[in-house]
Order: sequence, then C-alpha cells, then structure tokens
Amino acid sequence: MPGVGDDATDEYAVARAGMVEHQLRRRGLRDRRVLEAMGRVPRHLFVPEAVRHVAYDDRPLPIADGQTISQPYIVAVMIELAGVTSRSRVLEIGTGSGYAAAVLAAVAGEVVSIERHPGLAAAARAALEATGVRNVAVFVGDGTRGFPDRAPFDAIIATAAGPRIPSSWAEQLVQGGRIVAPVERDDGHQELVRAVVSAGTVREEVALPVAFVPLIGADGFPDPPARRA
Ligand code: SAM
Repeated sequence: MPGVGDDATDEYAVARAGMVEHQLRRRGLRDRRVLEAMGRVPRHLFVPEAVRHVAYDDRPLPIADGQTISQPYIVAVMIELAGVTSRSRVLEIGTGSGYAAAVLAAVAGEVVSIERHPGLAAAARAALEATGVRNVAVFVGDGTRGFPDRAPFDAIIATAAGPRIPSSWAEQLVQGGRIVAPVERDDGHQELVRAVVSAGTVREEVALPVAFVPLIGADGFPDPPARRA
C-alpha cells in the first residue's frame, strides 16, 4: 500500500498524519494497529476526485449513489470496538468506497465486505486493487442476511443504520464474537451498538450517538425509504 500516490513529502501523507494525531489519538483511540492502519491507508484514493483535497477532514464525505464514506474517527472507533486482531475474520456490511475495508484489511486476517449497490462494489474493488489490498473480498448483495457462505466470523461491522441488529448476524459469529453497528431508534436517533455473542445470548451496549445512511434490505429498512420525507 505505501508508495501509491504517497511518499513522505506527499501533502496527503502530511494530512493523514495530522488526522491520526488530532482526530484519533487526542480523542483517546489507543489500539496501536488501528492507528498504524489509519496512518497508512490512502483515504484520498477512495473518495471522488472532487473531494480529494478534503479527504482527511474530520467528517464523512459524499460518494456515488447518494452514499457516504464515514468520518475517519468513526471508522477507527468501530474497528477498535470490534476487537479486531491479525487473526480475525471480519464481515463488513456496507462496502461503500472500500476505505473502511482497506483499514480493516490492514488490521485483520481476512475481510468479507457486502455492498447493495453494484456500481459502488465495482469501484471499491478497483480502489482496493489499486492500493494493493489483497485480503478483502467484495460481494454485491443484501448484508442484512449476513453472509452465511463465509461464516463464521470473529466480528461483524455494519456501516449503515437499521431498525435493529439482524438475528442472522449473531448466528454467523463465533462464540465471543462481536457486532458493531449503528441502530436507529423509533424516535429517529441513532446509536452505535456493540454486541457480544456468547452461549446463545447477545449482550448489547451503547457506545456513542452517530448518524449513518440507512441499512436497506430484508431485515433493515424498506427500499425506497419512503418514510424519509
Ligand atoms: N464503509 C464505507 C466506506 O468506507 O466508504 C461506508 C459506507 S456507507 C456509510 C454505507 C453503505 O452501506 C452504503 O454504501 C450503502 O449502499 C450500504 N448498504 C446499505 N444497506 C445495505 C445492505 N442491506 N447490504 C449491503 N450494503 C448496504
């Protein structure tokens, strides 16, 4: 991955180092491998050219199909909360740009990522390939069903907010496996939830308030989301 539009004098590398220091370290993120990955993955190569100059800003950015690439801080928090190690097999729901998958790939052993928009999945595959990421497989489909063909996973990370955590996700985890996902409550507010699955029970705790695009699918919100005026 190093060497792709990115050497020590590159303005993007400087912006990325600033992002890690100001947006991540100073906000309390401590997982060394997550910080290293965030310092290495060239986020500017996963965003549309029109917003490349602000790729390392402290915010989500628009990508195609009305979707977003998440704020860097949220990407790092989710991976840290999921307790991902170099041996982890991780399922990501919502590939989007492929950026979070690339960060995950640098921390985990293997990543499976599902995206419902075929165009986004194709662009993400191309960006992952261009940046030298080899241990991510991107599929097109409805991630609310999980991905039984490749289960079990050590962790599942969802980057779109549904009305609940689908039961199929818990069924596709190893004992002690973790789910990190935004959930939209009845009053419309969203919370990032961390769930740990063990001995047939799912223990959920709320990590922080968030704002994600909707999780659309069989066990998510309907398509089109007519409820959003
Ligand atoms: N992880 C992404 C990144 O790094 O760019 C952020 C993705 S964006 C916040 C959420 C993505 O979830 C969108 O691309 C959206 O199309 C996708 N999505 C929504 N519902 C989905 C579903 N049921 N299955 C798979 N992808 C879904």
